[in-house]
Amino acid sequence: MEKIGFIGLGAMGKPMANNLIKKGFSLIVFDLFSERMGPLKVLGAEGAKSCKEVAEGCPTIITMLPSSPDVKEAVLGKDGLIEGVRKGSTLIDMSTIDPIMTQKIAVALKEKGVEMLDAPVARGVPAAIEGTLVIYVGGVKGVFEKCRSILEAMGTDIYHVGDIGSGEVCKIVNNIMVATTTAALAESMVLGVKAGVHPDVLFEALSSGSGNSFVLQNHYKNHVMKGRFEEEVFPVDYMLKDLGLALSTGAALRVPLHFAALAAQHYILAGASGESKRYHPAVIRPFEKLAGVEVRSKKK
Ligand code: NAD
Repeated sequence: MEKIGFIGLGAMGKPMANNLIKKGFSLIVFDLFSERMGPLKVLGAEGAKSCKEVAEGCPTIITMLPSSPDVKEAVLGKDGLIEGVRKGSTLIDMSTIDPIMTQKIAVALKEKGVEMLDAPVARGVPAAIEGTLVIYVGGVKGVFEKCRSILEAMGTDIYHVGDIGSGEVCKIVNNIMVATTTAALAESMVLGVKAGVHPDVLFEALSSGSGNSFVLQNHYKNHVMKGRFEEEVFPVDYMLKDLGLALSTGAALRVPLHFAALAAQHYILAGASGESKRYHPAVIRPFEKLAGVEVRSKKK
């Protein structure tokens, strides 16, 4: 099987690379923190010393990096992919970044005869581990079809949603929906508990009501109710980054985003209250502190 390059072995990248190896792909990996390559080398991956070196060895390269400046640096910066990439190669960027940046990088790569797909993901770390990610792909349909088996090693729900940058647009819209719901539930649930309803009773009653949602049944049930706000799992800072991408995209297209802007303020408040590195449903914690209550299950 052809070699795949994988750059960015963090909370998401490491399990995604793991699944590619499990499905029989040979990998060359790179991360700025060299110790993050160790567990993948044990599974048979080759380690590289730079993004350039990854590009020299692989016709298909995946990036899974924090944000737009990181992807720009990895692709166009010193010792970046563009310095080593061969004509006819493909970059699949699976990071959540600004779609305008995606398009700029795609143009620079095209001049070298390199295709690009943007393929950001939804569902988070557990799905990255299980290989059940949702993947929103933008780019040329034929290139997408060529890369389908690679994407299928990491995800189960894969959508080709349009031209280059469209995958990022879908992901940003998804995260407006997740962030606004998470932030709105924070104040709603705190009100319910402060006004005297037991957290478990409130959760159960709301689960049958018309206000029920995926966020209530996942982020609240499994994290807020259990007081589990782990570090290094899609933190408050990353949701704030995605809301920033939404607001700048909205401003560029003259689309007002009142609720996304309000949610961003909630996430800024959480960051300022010391929650910036915690899993993003920690957005509820400043509201709990203000009200002097906690929305936690009392069940053992
Ligand atoms: P992370 O911070 O855990 O990992 C990013 C990795 O990239 C780090 O190991 C870092 O050292 C490495 N890196 C940064 N710049 C680099 C460079 N120039 N060259 C090589 N390596 C570099 O981030 P993550 O949680 O894995 O998220 C990655 C992307 O996926 C982000 O865009 C995030 O918004 C998106 N995402 C995350 C989740 C989640 O639940 N964590 C869910 C969906 C989407």
